[in-house]
Amino acid sequence: MTDVLIVGAGPTGLTLACDIARRGVAVRIIDKSPAHHRESRGKTLHPRSLEILEDLGVAHRIVAGGTTHQVFRKYFDGAHVSDIDPFAGDGPTPDAPFDSAVFIGQWRIEEILRHRLSEFGVQVELGTEMAGFTQDAEGVTAMLTDGRTVKATYLVGCDGGHSAVRGTLGVPFEGRTEDMQSMVCGDVEAEGLDRDFWHQRFTPAGAIMLWPVPGTRSFQLQASPERDEFGEPMPPTLDGFQRLFDRHAKVAGVRLRNATWRSTWRVNVRMVEQSRLGRVFLAGDAAHVHPIAGGLGMNTGIQDAYNLGWKLALALTHQAGSALLDTYEEERLPIAAWTLQLTTERLEHVLAAIKEPGNGTEVTLTTAVPQGYRRICSPPRAVPPRWQVRIRAV
Ligand SMILES: Cc1cc2nc3c(=O)[nH]c(=O)nc-3n(C[C@H](O)[C@H](O)[C@H](O)COP(=O)(O)OP(=O)(O)OC[C@H]3O[C@@H](n4cnc5c(N)ncnc54)[C@H](O)[C@@H]3O)c2cc1C
Repeated sequence: MTDVLIVGAGPTGLTLACDIARRGVAVRIIDKSPAHHRESRGKTLHPRSLEILEDLGVAHRIVAGGTTHQVFRKYFDGAHVSDIDPFAGDGPTPDAPFDSAVFIGQWRIEEILRHRLSEFGVQVELGTEMAGFTQDAEGVTAMLTDGRTVKATYLVGCDGGHSAVRGTLGVPFEGRTEDMQSMVCGDVEAEGLDRDFWHQRFTPAGAIMLWPVPGTRSFQLQASPERDEFGEPMPPTLDGFQRLFDRHAKVAGVRLRNATWRSTWRVNVRMVEQSRLGRVFLAGDAAHVHPIAGGLGMNTGIQDAYNLGWKLALALTHQAGSALLDTYEEERLPIAAWTLQLTTERLEHVLAAIKEPGNGTEVTLTTAVPQGYRRICSPPRAVPPRWQVRIRAV
């Protein structure tokens, strides 16, 4: 029997595991993957998340392994338009020690969190897939696909957008998927491309962006997909990446090679209406997914975990009861709903803005709510009615 079983060792599950383990609570963390991935995926850690990671004792390693004050270099139709550091300002202050987001590959963030977790004596159990669970007044019994069972007082599903924990709970994932609004992404080497900049190259027909992943020879590539004769997005290939580069970057002599990750990302705007059912919780992408505009997915998951960790620890040491655990959902689902709205709004904003020379993804990167946001935001189509009221009250 363990106190907490965490299903999923992405950034959300690892943050939660570190927070629980450092409080002396017994935790197990399982992941169905046979090996740790090396994909850049979420690359922007915002100052609020860095404050959490500082409290967990890893911010210095994250900052050392990433890039602060990343310069966005923009081109329109092949012509250099501008260089912008969206976090340029007056520098850190005692109240706000992190004056810039850190740009760092998600695999590296996870590696640093796993290392921290091992300092508390906990290892991720790889190749360990949860198939389902039951719960009663005493605890939760999780069934693994290899036939074993794990008993825990609480179970937390940090198992991503296709969450099996959410599926077992029968909690709907309300919202929508935009099949036509998609991008291809991947990690690829780009010989001849300057590694000091996040290259954002726009044309009236689309875009390609290449961000240098620190500590590697790779760039994270994001681009409008190639489309077939029916207008459907085509699957990502290295040859396709090169064609997209040639079409939108309009620069000769840069060869892309060694694509270690290739993926298609579709716009999903979905969230749950409940993130606690009895002894089981949902956090991170398992509870909410939304456009990556502004880079908030991983950040929101890390902040979910930080909200839940200390509450579980107090409940497990009989210093708090069920009412405290209820505040996780009460506090985090309105944030999820707000994030769905904000990122949808910002995606529309950036897609319109980049048609004009000089604009890039920095139009999505502000930690503040834009002036008049509540007034201009469109009706929250994907947000369950129960949480819409809360958003207006924020
Ligand atoms: C190109 C791209 C760029 C992005 N940029 C950003 C960004 O700049 N900033 C940002 O904040 N976010 C960004 N994101 C989003 C970010 O990657 C996700 O929001 C983040 O990975 C969610 O973390 P998570 O831990 O909740 O889930 P995941 O990272 O999906 O982890 C879930 C884990 O659960 C495991 N699992 C699943 N099912 C089971 C099971 N049944 N049993 C055991 N284990 C299981 C999986 O193997 C996986 O390891 C980006 C994503 C992409 C694709």
